[in-house]
Amino acid sequence: AADLPASQPSPAPPAKLPPGFILDKDGKPCRSCNSKASFSQWAQQTKSSLKSGVGAATGAATMTAAAATTTTNQPDNDCPPDVEALGRSTWTLLHTIAANYPKSPSYKEQSDLKTFMGVFSRLYPCWVCAEDFQRYIEKEQIRVDSRNDFGTWLCEAHNAVNTKLGKPVFDCSKWEERWRTGWKD
Ligand code: FAD
Repeated sequence: AADLPASQPSPAPPAKLPPGFILDKDGKPCRSCNSKASFSQWAQQTKSSLKSGVGAATGAATMTAAAATTTTNQPDNDCPPDVEALGRSTWTLLHTIAANYPKSPSYKEQSDLKTFMGVFSRLYPCWVCAEDFQRYIEKEQIRVDSRNDFGTWLCEAHNAVNTKLGKPVFDCSKWEERWRTGWKD
């Protein structure tokens, strides 16, 4: 802005965001709320608009760093997770917790699991995902009476996200085969 001639009073409007692109609550791009493809598209778009002097997108400073990351020689898997990588790892953790949850949990174990899920739903680092998940938990009370209760509840919760994203629904009678025993031959 210091280089602008005095006759140019206001900065150019922000560059357009890719369709469906999610910003963080502070207005900066949310890496863990968007896919890598859409994050890269945004970085590319913003880079071009900065180059052509069209305007600085929201969080342009962050973008410059992000764009730089995509052009270094770092292997892909050394990058911060996008919404998909984060989701896959998180579902792995959650279903594995279900797989290792006791068949007959104590009162303390049930209470710990409920507390964990409540805190998890508030801390999940994709805020749009977290808000939907909190709403789901309010509507469909978490079931912690046994391994099968929790595993099935979690499978249904995962299916609600699958449906929202247009992915196939998983057969919940098979959650233990997928996450605990391995597939029957
Ligand atoms: P994933 O959905 O990550 O599943 C991993 C594996 O789990 C699958 O390969 C399959 O073997 C197994 N599986 C699939 N469904 C079930 C099931 N119902 N029960 C048991 N096992 C199953 N992404 C968004 O874009 N928007 C969101 O709002 C959003 N909300 C999310 C909320 C939460 C709490 C979590 C943990 C993730 C969320 N995600 C969201 C991420 C999304 O669910 C996926 O993880 C991501 O899109 C990658 O999908 P994937 O196809 O690799 O398989």
